[in-house]
Amino acid sequence: MIDLQRNLSAEEHLILYWYSIVVEKSNVSYDDFRITESLIMRFNEYVKKWNTAFFNNPLRFEKPVDWDRNRTKTDYFRNQLAKGHEFELWVQRKFKSCGVDIGGYNSEKGQFAGENNLGIEIKYDMRHAETGNIYIEYCERLDSSKSWIKSGILKNDNTKYWLIGNMNDYFIFTKITLVNIYNKLIRKENIKGCHLVEEKLNGTSKGFVMNNAFSRTVTFADSIEDFVGKLNIDTNISYYALNMFVHGRRECRYIRNKPDNMIKVFDSLDDALKAGFQKCNNPNCFL
Ligand SMILES: [Zn+2]
Repeated sequence: MIDLQRNLSAEEHLILYWYSIVVEKSNVSYDDFRITESLIMRFNEYVKKWNTAFFNNPLRFEKPVDWDRNRTKTDYFRNQLAKGHEFELWVQRKFKSCGVDIGGYNSEKGQFAGENNLGIEIKYDMRHAETGNIYIEYCERLDSSKSWIKSGILKNDNTKYWLIGNMNDYFIFTKITLVNIYNKLIRKENIKGCHLVEEKLNGTSKGFVMNNAFSRTVTFADSIEDFVGKLNIDTNISYYALNMFVHGRRECRYIRNKPDNMIKVFDSLDDALKAGFQKCNNPNCFL
């Protein structure tokens, strides 16, 4: 949404121009284009309606970010991506119903990038429903002529937990547990109910398979509710919006002297951003 009180940025000029052409069907060149307060208000109204519709029905409006690389986009991958995205949204909502905001959805591969503060990676296992097994990936490549790169549990990031499965049946492991299993399998140790899988699909993924019974013995939490309980996460997080900005702390210097009735409270940062607020730029506000 655009603030009427401030000077317009270059990007806002562009957005308003496109809005007038695409939505209001004006046929004007940029030179003849005029920006009025009423145009900005109509634009804000349009964005508000869009945000509300989007927020009320994320499954319909939110789209996975598709691969933009040379990987062959087979139907399998498209389907996998859509199903995976649906699962991630489902997990996100489930956490929210437990009072935990695990943050937004974004990255090159359309996955939680391990950037949420819980460090939880969410993976949809497409074949779990049919086989009962869980597939844990540790290497991938773009196609069978390319060299392998570390992925999944061997990726160097801040991931601590691995949530994998489908909406009916999922597991939450610690990443270290999975890495330990990987190390044993690589050393050719025998683990009942668990084995390495050399190549999967088109020879683009290496991993190991754990059967259902084995998975149960090494799981960290049986459910998201159980997980939230074990981690003792503070489930009472609020975000405070005033004017154009949303704050992570009520004591933030920009809002601490403002009365409660001026402030809109959100229980997730995502909700506030989707409603059109921008993050406060006080560096201490979200620590
Ligand atoms: Zn702030």
